[in-house]
Amino acid sequence: AKSEGKGSHRFFESAMDAEAQARRALETDLHDALRNGELALHFQPLFGLSQNRVTAFEALLRWQHPTRGMVSPVNFIPLAEETGLIIPIGEWALHEACRIAATWPDHIRVAVNISPIQFRSPNLTAVVLQALARSGIAPNRLELEITESLFIENVEATLSSLHSLRALGVRVALDDFGTGYSSLSYLRSFPFDKLKIDRSFIVDLLEHKGATAIIRAITTLADALGIETTAEGVEHSEQLDILRAEGCGQIQGYLFSRPIPAQDVEALLGKLDGA
Ligand code: C2E
Ligand code: CA
Ligand code: CA
Ligand code: CA
Repeated sequence: AKSEGKGSHRFFESAMDAEAQARRALETDLHDALRNGELALHFQPLFGLSQNRVTAFEALLRWQHPTRGMVSPVNFIPLAEETGLIIPIGEWALHEACRIAATWPDHIRVAVNISPIQFRSPNLTAVVLQALARSGIAPNRLELEITESLFIENVEATLSSLHSLRALGVRVALDDFGTGYSSLSYLRSFPFDKLKIDRSFIVDLLEHKGATAIIRAITTLADALGIETTAEGVEHSEQLDILRAEGCGQIQGYLFSRPIPAQDVEALLGKLDGA
C-alpha cells in the first residue's frame, strides 16, 4: 500500500484522499500493534460511595504508537471495528484484564468493554470462559460493559447471548446509559447488574437543576430493579455531592483518578481506600 501510485495521484490529492490515506496507514499499523506489544490496558477506579473504597477498575485500551505517540481509543476502536481487528484486540484485552485482576485483592472487580462487533462474534462465551480459566479469577469479579446499541436490532440474539454469559457467572453492565435510541423495555427483559450513567448527564449537573431530576429518576429506577449505578466522568466535588445525595452507587472520573497503568494500581489502592 505504501508505494501505490503515490507520485501520479499527488497532484490531484484532495483533503479527503489525504484522510483516506492516513486511515489506511493507521489500519496497517493497527494490524501490527497487537503483535508488537504496542497495546496496553490502563485502569480507572470505580469508587463505591457506601463502601467508601475502590470496588472495581475499568480496563481502557491504550495504543503506544512507535511514531505517532499515544493514539486514543476514540480514534482506533472504530477502525478496529470496521476492519474486524476488534475481535483479536478485544480477546487480548479480556485475557490481559483478567490476568492483571488476578494480582489484585479478591474484593476488587475488573470491568472490560465489549464492542458490539465482538459481542456478536459466535465464540465470545468461549473466550470469556477461557480468560476466566487461565487467570483463575472468580467469574463474579469480571464485569462486561456493553452498550444500548446492541438492542437496536436482533434483540432476541442479544438477550440469548447475555443469558449465556450470565450463566458463566460474570456480571453485565450497561455502558453510556441514557445515550442510546432504544426503549427502557430491555431493562425488564434482562437483569443487568449495573447501569453506567453517561458522562453527559454528569456534566449537566453543573449547569441546570433538571439534571438532578434525571439522576434521581435513574437511581430510583435502578434501585427498584435491584441494579447498581455508576456515574461516569465525575470531575468536580459539586457533582459528587449531588450523586451521593441521590444515592448513586459508584463514582468514576478524574475527581478520584484518571486511568492509570497496571503497575500503579497497588499504590492507588493504598491512597484512595478509606479516603
Ligand atoms: P467508555 O467505555 O465510556 O470509557 C470512559 C471514557 O471516559 C474513557 O476514555 C475514560 O478515560 C474517560 N473518562 C473517565 N473519567 C473521565 C472524566 O472525569 N472526564 C472525562 N472527560 N473523561 C473521563 P478513553 O479511555 O479515551 O476511552 C474511550 C472509549 O473507547 C471508551 O469509552 C470505550 O468506548 C472505548 N474503549 C476503551 N477501551 C476499550 C476496550 O478495551 N474495548 C472496547 N471495545 N472499547 C474500548
Ligand atoms: Ca466503558
Ligand atoms: Ca461509558
Ligand atoms: Ca462513553
